[in-house]
Amino acid sequence: MALHYPFAEPPAGGELFEVAPGIFWLRMPLPFQLDHINLWLLRDGAGWVIVDTGFADESVRALWQRILAQLNGPVHRLVVTHFHPDHLGLASWLMDETAAPLAMTSGEFLTAHVVWHEVAGHGARFMVEQFRQHGLGAELLAKFETRGSGYRKAVPALPDHYDRLKADDVLTVDGRHWQIIIGHGHAPEHMALYCLELDVLISGDMLLPRISTNISVFAATPKADALRWFLDSLADMAERFPGQTLVLPSHGLPFRGVAERVDELQAHHVDRLQALETSCEQAPKSAAELLDVLFGRALDTHQTMFAMGEAIAHLNYLEHAGRLLRRVDADGVTRYSRPRAAAH
Ligand SMILES: [Zn+2]
Repeated sequence: MALHYPFAEPPAGGELFEVAPGIFWLRMPLPFQLDHINLWLLRDGAGWVIVDTGFADESVRALWQRILAQLNGPVHRLVVTHFHPDHLGLASWLMDETAAPLAMTSGEFLTAHVVWHEVAGHGARFMVEQFRQHGLGAELLAKFETRGSGYRKAVPALPDHYDRLKADDVLTVDGRHWQIIIGHGHAPEHMALYCLELDVLISGDMLLPRISTNISVFAATPKADALRWFLDSLADMAERFPGQTLVLPSHGLPFRGVAERVDELQAHHVDRLQALETSCEQAPKSAAELLDVLFGRALDTHQTMFAMGEAIAHLNYLEHAGRLLRRVDADGVTRYSRPRAAAH
């Protein structure tokens, strides 16, 4: 069955549109090929709860100023699904503007801080070294080195305190209960929120209708089986929401059909895993040498960063599953081959 999209068009940038009783959709611009993010505003009595904050740039701040002036009531709470800049970027600024507290998971709050400060194996130099080991060429590595992580530009300030939310915690908004659902593979402790009374799931980046969520392997956890974690989280969602739950994703249009979308994403990754395995059967290959197999199109520098993380995640999955063997060649590059017994 195909996904069902109840709203054909997104609201204009900076306009509020009610998608369910008391749940408002706000679309903000992003300076990438992925040119927007969806944020959600929840009515909470005389006030509001804001879910995700947008990328820190002047156009988004100006749109927020306009929205805040319209809200006609205090902001009671900011909730951020995960540490990525389009979600967390303006949290600190909005805390200052509204005096509202911030709620996050500890995995996301702490990751934001180590990425911002580039410590504990996080940051551009660790990523460059990770990509060097995975075979990326000197020219691209030099570009990444010069660009830096870009995180501080997009998240200019971080709060130093927050309200910690954990798996299965319940947030009460306007008398309704929102259950905290933790997912892995895209970010360390990504939070989605599910309202039983409304049958609405704010899915963050864990479940998107058209694009496949980026899976990341950090340099600090080089062997992380992030794709397996992601697929397990998806399976969990399909089991919890087999029916007509309205999904409010961070990118794309709201939709119904969790189980159908999870099926599509699982099939997509199974197919990509198979393609990588087959390619490594012909000759051992590095993650960089497999970008073509995985994506089959030209990638710009920004996309290459995500693509490398994604390739490493797929290769880690195959290694953990015993379908590929990792070895480090004389040139210092990690390459993957089929185990002898499995080769044919
Ligand atoms: Zn994200």
